[in-house]
Amino acid sequence: MKEFLSVSFLILFLATSPVAARQQADRQADDKPAQPFQVFDNLYYVGFESACAWVIKTSQGLILIDSGYVNMLDHIPGAMRQLGLNFSDGKYLLINHAHTDHTGAANHFKELNRGLRIGMAEGDWQFQASGTYMNSQGIPRKFTAIPRDMVIKDQETLTLGDTTLKFHVLPGHTPGDTTIEFMAIDGNRRYKTFLFSGLGTAFTGARAAQEHLDKIKRIMAAPDVQVTLSDHTMGIDLFEKAAKLKARRPGDAHPFVDGPAAFSRAMQPRLADAEKKLAEERAANRP
Ligand SMILES: [Zn+2]
Ligand SMILES: [Zn+2]
Repeated sequence: MKEFLSVSFLILFLATSPVAARQQADRQADDKPAQPFQVFDNLYYVGFESACAWVIKTSQGLILIDSGYVNMLDHIPGAMRQLGLNFSDGKYLLINHAHTDHTGAANHFKELNRGLRIGMAEGDWQFQASGTYMNSQGIPRKFTAIPRDMVIKDQETLTLGDTTLKFHVLPGHTPGDTTIEFMAIDGNRRYKTFLFSGLGTAFTGARAAQEHLDKIKRIMAAPDVQVTLSDHTMGIDLFEKAAKLKARRPGDAHPFVDGPAAFSRAMQPRLADAEKKLAEERAANRP
């Protein structure tokens, strides 16, 4: 969600180094590969200590969600191997949003597996097409753009074998920020899952703010959401839950199944942000 640089580190770099070195440091951020683990029967965590990356297993192959960083491009293929998943079984790489902590290794993945389709929303295809954007510290982040492939659309679904994903595109954190809905499977139980992306409000104008607020409300109205996941580990207590999962005994509840109340709690700050943004845009007379 956020671009990671500790404040002292950032100040040091702003004070002492040329732009190229800053960009280099910026790309590497202060994230590290995490121990991969199976979350549900059909869901695997293959990401980092902060930025998430996931694999959904279907009857017709694998769906990867986010690619991680360009300077750690071997991590996800290795993590998949460790979990008994074949990288070459990947059919799709879907991008939650086009910041480089989620897209950095995408071109490498395509080289490893030419059949992999890369999907993201139109706004993010355009956002990343020039190979540069300003990160949250206002530092230009340069990268190799991903050649245009599959366009994800709001409210559309994607079916692979026995699995259907539904997309909720909410421009805000990036212009094509995409939350993904699917069913997580635990034995004979299936749980409605929302895998959120950034959900910020980095846009201008009351119309965009109203649209964002409407979509937040639409998501909050989704009934019976049992599992709340995200594009970053903080906020979803990923590693605490992973430790509980490891210690889980037969008959214990699944620690990632939080229930609709937790989903609602997670959405409340997003709703407040969206309402505040709309009020600001109206007050400033920005249509
Ligand atoms: Zn981001
Ligand atoms: Zn991120």
